[in-house]
Amino acid sequence: MNLNHIKVCARCNLRYDWRKSPSSMKMTYCSSLCEKADLGFTVEALLRYERATPEAEAATPAV
Ligand SMILES: [Zn+2]
Repeated sequence: MNLNHIKVCARCNLRYDWRKSPSSMKMTYCSSLCEKADLGFTVEALLRYERATPEAEAATPAV
């Protein structure tokens, strides 16, 4: 086992292999749940939201 890949989650203190973390901040959190719980959002969701905003405005009829 290569300990270089083992990180301790900033949220739950679980030891995990950061290469296998589904979090977008995989070096910090063991999972996207911990990322979301700690930050209040996920980076992935934030990027999706920012991308979606102009389209949402364009779809709204200007009355
Ligand atoms: Zn965690």
